Amino acid sequence: RTVYVNGDYLPETEAKVSIFDRAFLMADGVYEVTSVLGGKLIDFDGHIKRLERSLNELDMPKPEAFDDLLDIHRKLVEINEIDEGMIYLQVTRGAASDRDFVFPDPEEVKPTVVLFTQNKPGLADSPAAKTGIKVISIEDVRWGRRDIKTTQLLYPSMGKMMAKKAGCDDAWMVEDGFVTEGTSNNAYFIKGNKIVTRALSTDILHGITRAAVLRFAREAQMEVEERNFTIEEAQGADEAFITSASTFVMPVVEIDGKAIGEGVPGTRAARLREIYLDESRKAAI
Ligand code: PMP
Repeated sequence: RTVYVNGDYLPETEAKVSIFDRAFLMADGVYEVTSVLGGKLIDFDGHIKRLERSLNELDMPKPEAFDDLLDIHRKLVEINEIDEGMIYLQVTRGAASDRDFVFPDPEEVKPTVVLFTQNKPGLADSPAAKTGIKVISIEDVRWGRRDIKTTQLLYPSMGKMMAKKAGCDDAWMVEDGFVTEGTSNNAYFIKGNKIVTRALSTDILHGITRAAVLRFAREAQMEVEERNFTIEEAQGADEAFITSASTFVMPVVEIDGKAIGEGVPGTRAARLREIYLDESRKAAI
């Protein structure tokens, strides 16, 4: 496949980044994942706005290519003939001349910008959406600025492995007794006509899919409560689900071995997935 690195479109085998890149040495990088449906970008503006926020929060300079990111995304979709899939975008503080905790002078060290596509035919018609997924709960031991989308993904990655080992698909993280979010998604339950999900703060990533889904839920006359909740409360719910750019709305049918509702995807989560996919396709660019 063809990838993008600092202004160049190259075969992936020829793309190179310095070993002194701060993301390689210190996870000093931020990223975004945008999904592609029908060759078009889903929620692109939201992802770019969040990227800008992540850069600001870390005093990371905006790359020169910032205003060209839409064109770069579109060009990669075209070159790699992506109909359904994802585009990964990473911006790092760049390659300093040596390993040093102090940030390099932004006049001298420019950000590294990397983009690549992931071809995922059948992404929207995912079999997992029909069966639902199983999650376990684990302690949330990540740092305190989870609202910044950094490349520090070791713990979420370990969480996924713990889930796999337990025969499950993902893990919901718990801090001080309350669910924060999934390893790479936001977490919800539904009781009656009410959707409950943790409120936005520095404790969780402000999901772009979350914002859209909560808006569609309110438009569909569902009640939305943004507050803390426990694993036990979610286990006693009628339905549960997660959201992310790559899974859209994905039903959760089991939490720590306890079936949610009938143990099959709920009708409300399925409906929200349908609305999200329909509306996102219409608004895709
Ligand atoms: N929380 C975490 C920790 C994530 O990694 C992600 C996906 N990157 C999300 C939530 C969902 O965010 P989005 O809907 O913007 O993909």
